[in-house]
Amino acid sequence: MKPVYRLVSVCLAAAFTLTSVFPLEAAGSGTPVYVSSSGKKYHRFDCKTLRSKKFRIELADAERSGYRPCLLCKPARNDDALYRVNIENIRSYRQVDIKKMPRGTLTRHIDGDTVHVTLENPPPGLNRVEKIRMIGVDTPETVHPGRGVEYFGREASDFTKKALLGKVVYIALDWDTRDRYGRLLAYIYTPDGGCHNVELLKQGYAHAYTRFPFQFLEEFRKLEREARDAKAGLWAADAGR
Ligand SMILES: [Zn+2]
Repeated sequence: MKPVYRLVSVCLAAAFTLTSVFPLEAAGSGTPVYVSSSGKKYHRFDCKTLRSKKFRIELADAERSGYRPCLLCKPARNDDALYRVNIENIRSYRQVDIKKMPRGTLTRHIDGDTVHVTLENPPPGLNRVEKIRMIGVDTPETVHPGRGVEYFGREASDFTKKALLGKVVYIALDWDTRDRYGRLLAYIYTPDGGCHNVELLKQGYAHAYTRFPFQFLEEFRKLEREARDAKAGLWAADAGR
């Protein structure tokens, strides 16, 4: 081996070892995952099994270093080409790029937070027609068999219908692709860059639904608080309680 090549390979080995031992907090723009100093698995940031000190590293580095994905928290995998806000490491609904999202038309409306979207060019993993449950929001029921029509359910349903039915929409995914009913879990964006999930919260048509983690959880909680303080929509009835 020529000395110059040996020097290059020694430098590369040293750099790789350093970044493995001391993962940098701001190590580029790849997908972040978390590992502990002792474990052999990589995790989502909020995994319950990550009790000891955790380090943020890039997914590609974790896989290269032999870490395996945690079976409990099911961290991000680069195994699909879908636009995911967790893979893009986006922390606010405003930071998305709708040009990268699958585009479709909202062809059927079920209620405030559930719709059907017909995609123009469904990427691998998605169907042409997807029943979508919007991430992080919960509108009062209108079609639930056991619960009947809840207060403000009709209004929330009409709001979504009026805003979206027949319109062009863009969809962004997050950690979980589908719920247990097989519905696609997504943020729905409009061509002007607005996020319908957010509009439901801002205008008081939905609660923030935080049972499962998602990238914009804190932001959605804050939006719900602001709507409640402003007595918007369904929160107006709380005024006298
Ligand atoms: Zn985990």
